[in-house]
Amino acid sequence: MLHEKLESIYDSVLRRNPGEIEFHQAAREVLESIGPVLGKHPEYAESKIIERICEPERQIIFRVPWEDDQGEVHINRGFRVEFNSALGPYKGGLRFHPSVYLGIVKFLGFEQIFKNGLTGLPIGGGKGGSDFDPKGRSQREIMRFCQSFMTELYRHIGEYTDVPAGDIGVGQREVGYLFGQYKRITNRYESAVITGKGLSYGGAQVRTEATGYGCAFFVEEMLKARGTSFDGKRVVVSGSGNVAVYAIEKVQQLGGTVVACSDSSGYVIDEKGIDLDLLKQIKQIEHLRMDAYARRRGEVSFVAGRSIWEVPCEVAMPSATQNEITGKDAEALVRGGCIAIGEGANMPTTPEGIRIFQEAGVSFGPGKAANAGGVATSALEMQQNASRDSWTFEFSERRLQEIMQDIHGRCLNTAEEYGMPGNYVAGANIDGFKRVADAMLALGLI
Ligand code: GLU
Repeated sequence: MLHEKLESIYDSVLRRNPGEIEFHQAAREVLESIGPVLGKHPEYAESKIIERICEPERQIIFRVPWEDDQGEVHINRGFRVEFNSALGPYKGGLRFHPSVYLGIVKFLGFEQIFKNGLTGLPIGGGKGGSDFDPKGRSQREIMRFCQSFMTELYRHIGEYTDVPAGDIGVGQREVGYLFGQYKRITNRYESAVITGKGLSYGGAQVRTEATGYGCAFFVEEMLKARGTSFDGKRVVVSGSGNVAVYAIEKVQQLGGTVVACSDSSGYVIDEKGIDLDLLKQIKQIEHLRMDAYARRRGEVSFVAGRSIWEVPCEVAMPSATQNEITGKDAEALVRGGCIAIGEGANMPTTPEGIRIFQEAGVSFGPGKAANAGGVATSALEMQQNASRDSWTFEFSERRLQEIMQDIHGRCLNTAEEYGMPGNYVAGANIDGFKRVADAMLALGLI
């Protein structure tokens, strides 16, 4: 249910952003949470803070021409949505995936504003990407695409302006090509213009692991709040990309057993616990599909084309993509005894799924809290670049864990303060919103 004032704001979001359904979904979820804040803080409505937050400060759309290995020309579309810079330079990743269009970039950028606010670090919110499909492309094609993309993007970004990073389809390799082209065009070694860099040229320890590790730390806190822990728990992690792999690694270190993971072709069930070395070999080195894992591991089933959420578990960590847990999946998870969800991906649960989990008393950690470890560690990378320093793995991981504990505590306290104890969605949205709103009020009408 939407507060009356918010209903008309939501209507105008629908009207002004036609067809952008993922953005509508992300906006509605935040608007549903912040009703009670308006009662306590009439100044936000008076200054039209919410209307302003829903309108990106700047949206850039550009052509990305490139040539494949056969000399054929391709044209993709590039995006950067600079959503909100009240707390710091725009910060958020780049996604290269054929599903990318303005609505996806805006949903991600919108989420990023509150996620980044919640970290307590000085970063605004933005997101970008392209409908380029890296699948099946050679290394040289990827490099040429990244160079062409940056040849336009470079004029819009900068250490104090906008700091991209990776997301789906953009990892350390792509960040390297993007940074290389930025450096070449600008003739500036501006390390903090992009994060997720390799360790040999200004990257930070733990950045690669941070989203997955951070999500596991967050779930550990949720379990602690319920008087339990990962020890002996049966866990399902969807996906097998960067977030999923390091979520699995940390869950295993914390004593949980991850029995299933997936890719877009299907999922594997491995009752002994996922063999992480084999998974890394198959996914990160050989770039094969999930059935190759089952074949090599032996005595493991590969299930093609079905939802991984039919696998019963006590903890689920959706770490693949948006809207991967439907209402039906949520019902199956609840029936299977699931008590906690940690969203490693951005918005992986549909609104119906969230409602089902909350009504069943499942601890539900939304992405903007549970997966904030990635962007938080990006902010630590910027901090190390600014001081020309580099921290150890142990120190960086400790910082990440403290940040996740802090976010967890803030979500719980805020939810409690607003009369919704245990509601992490409300806690995350309200706390993130208030941080941004207070900064916007202080900066005047800009
Ligand atoms: N793409 C990641 C996210 O969704 C990380 C962004 C960053 O490090 O800037 O938060």
